[in-house]
Amino acid sequence: MDEGGKFISGIVPPKELSDPAWWFIFQENKLLIYQKTESIILPFLMDLNELDLSVLRQNYLGKLNNHHCYACEAVDGTTPPAGMTFEGLRQVYGRLDEDLFWIAARAVQIVDWDRTHEFCGRCGVPLKLKTTERAKECPQCNLLHFPRLAPAIIVLVERGQELLLARSRHFLPGMYSVLAGFVEPGESLEEAVVREVKEEVGVDIKNIKYFGSQPWPFPHSLMIGFTATYASGEISLNDSEIEDAGWFTVNKLPRIPGKISIARKLIDGFLAKQGSIFED
Ligand SMILES: [Zn+2]
Repeated sequence: MDEGGKFISGIVPPKELSDPAWWFIFQENKLLIYQKTESIILPFLMDLNELDLSVLRQNYLGKLNNHHCYACEAVDGTTPPAGMTFEGLRQVYGRLDEDLFWIAARAVQIVDWDRTHEFCGRCGVPLKLKTTERAKECPQCNLLHFPRLAPAIIVLVERGQELLLARSRHFLPGMYSVLAGFVEPGESLEEAVVREVKEEVGVDIKNIKYFGSQPWPFPHSLMIGFTATYASGEISLNDSEIEDAGWFTVNKLPRIPGKISIARKLIDGFLAKQGSIFED
């Protein structure tokens, strides 16, 4: 997938700005936006002082189409400047330019990492930002602290004309999706795919193929997508997280996840193979 395709990541900010930059400003993981009825606009400024706002944790992100991008956090309790508001990322998806959305997804994770990694986990002294890579280093013991990323597999299992969908207890009413789960230490991605499907619905699979990946900033996952075909076994729900699962055909689909997600891209890929589309 090409999220943020025109974006070049960077660590060291320019000495000064000669053009306006994009500012991704968060408060409790909500993004500061200009309030408009349909589309959303972000601060695009030479100088953050143009906004009536106190910020901290300013991190340079890189360049989008040659415009510098910064992430920072508004000081707790700050009220948004006139005409602006803080909104959750899920709520801004579809109304914010797609490239900017995926940089916001990156920015929220970097600000969160900066906030939650102030001190060394080994010796407790304040950490220093590195300038050669996105990491912090302990000046006392040299331990490196990288932004947290939790890899998770997500897999669409097909059986002829049918696909396997399941419902988590936490989903919206009526919503079904493909199976997903976190990768365990020491496990390959393919092993995680086989284990998750077996654990969650008791089915064996084969022909595991890589599909694509997607950052998922809620709060810091990397979703790695696969397709697989059914091999054997009957559906049995062994995982208390899953309340229902079944085989569905294209013309009898339940409610499925929105277009933001790789889950939906996997399902849309299966539908396309069957010559079908799902209107949202
Ligand atoms: Zn240390």
